[in-house]
Amino acid sequence: MSVVLKFGGTSVATTDAIERACRIVCDAPGERVVVVSATAGTTSALIAAARTAAAGDPVGAESVMTRLASAHDELLRKAARGDEDSAAALNDLAQRAKALVRSVAILHECTPRSQDAIVAYGELASSVIVAAALRAHGLEAEAVPATRIVVTDDAFGNAAPAFEEAYARARSVLGPLLAGQRVPVVTGFIGATREGVTTTLGRGASDYTAAILAAALGASECLIYTDVSGVMSADPRMVEGARPLAQLSYSEAAEMSYFGAKVLHPRAVLPAVEAGIAVRILNTFAPLEPGTTITARAIPDGSVVKATTSLGGLALVTVQGAGMSGVPGFAARVFDTTAAEQVSVLMISQSSSENSICFVVPANTGDRLKAALERMLAKELAHHDVERVTVERPIAVVAAVGEGMRGTPGVAARIFGALGRAGVNVIAIAQGSSEFNISLCVTEAEQVTAVRAIHDEFQDAPTTRPTAPRATAAR
Ligand code: ADP
Ligand code: ASP
Ligand code: MG
Repeated sequence: MSVVLKFGGTSVATTDAIERACRIVCDAPGERVVVVSATAGTTSALIAAARTAAAGDPVGAESVMTRLASAHDELLRKAARGDEDSAAALNDLAQRAKALVRSVAILHECTPRSQDAIVAYGELASSVIVAAALRAHGLEAEAVPATRIVVTDDAFGNAAPAFEEAYARARSVLGPLLAGQRVPVVTGFIGATREGVTTTLGRGASDYTAAILAAALGASECLIYTDVSGVMSADPRMVEGARPLAQLSYSEAAEMSYFGAKVLHPRAVLPAVEAGIAVRILNTFAPLEPGTTITARAIPDGSVVKATTSLGGLALVTVQGAGMSGVPGFAARVFDTTAAEQVSVLMISQSSSENSICFVVPANTGDRLKAALERMLAKELAHHDVERVTVERPIAVVAAVGEGMRGTPGVAARIFGALGRAGVNVIAIAQGSSEFNISLCVTEAEQVTAVRAIHDEFQDAPTTRPTAPRATAAR
């Protein structure tokens, strides 16, 4: 049986981190597949370099590329002194990425396709460095670009994998390496179209790569090594008292990452669920801590709201008017418009009087969407069936997540009580029919206060509060 070990950006960004990662891989039993991210900050720096080049500043862009290349060289020199082949491979990658940035500067244009080719350098460089470091620890490691494995569509920047093809390729590329006791070090985040053009799977998607490989190989576990000791009850940068959660169900994890918990990529959960593989989130810098295990079912622990997450940088669009109520197909027309504008909707709420529909979208799409809705509703606006389309921003969605909420009366009351005491004004609410997520909109200025208020209400003593009989009986 194989195990997939994924190391995130901070876990490969320093000599000490790489040393720790190598020890973890060396200590793991059985067949090992390693997945690596670009070193922390590299992907963002590459995107910035590509934009700087497109904006007509080739010198600025090139200086970023030179800085990244020397940081990579230094990591390699310290992790695997004298590995000339890897040094040459790293140099080739850097030169190629620099050439791509130069051509963006000449064209004054950075298409999503060019950007993907440029940012792929981050993961490609990491895989060469970590493979060299593992060889220096005595393992037969080999860098494997995921462009050979993860077949995707051509939605550059956010490409979707063709699972069956990717799974077949994972088995044919990685199988022989594993059979020969070798340790593949695969780039996270990147893939390629059938024609071989490099793509990326979306920010933070190295977790997704790890889950895809684990599913393809029928791995016993998919271990996501990061810089915190598991998924926590809230973003630790926002809530001081956040603590690691021992266990989460797939649904809870998906819900949390969808609503902003950066620790796990939202799509990473699906391939693992389908293959029934346990995902564990562990700390590279404290590998003996138990971390978080993500499993098919929630294990009841008396908690109601297990975690509070939030996502800022959003806008709330409201379509309002008395003439909307009872008109069949009205909501469909509104969401056809969001689809035609290629805007993803994060949360929807409709008042029971049907006098308004409001929904949350990324803040930078708000104006475009308002204009498109006004065009689509021109007749209704003229007849005052629709009064107005408004956009409020910046908005944040705050979500309370936990399977223990299902069937537990009074959860919403406690949430709103806590927010009221903290003086937070709730602009809109939505509850999924799954009943284990209540999400609400607040202004971005109140995001942190709202998260802390909900977190503290439920986390202070989760097991001492009475749990409703139905919630316990259901399990
Ligand atoms: P990696 O590069 O290892 O993938 P990320 O930066 O993508 O790491 O994700 C880990 C970070 O996610 C943590 O350092 C933490 O600041 C942040 N984070 C946000 N919400 C949570 C949460 N609920 N639990 C744990 N970490 C969280
Ligand atoms: N390096 C990529 C990013 O920063 C992917 C990842 O870290 O998972 O988005
Ligand atoms: Mg991540």
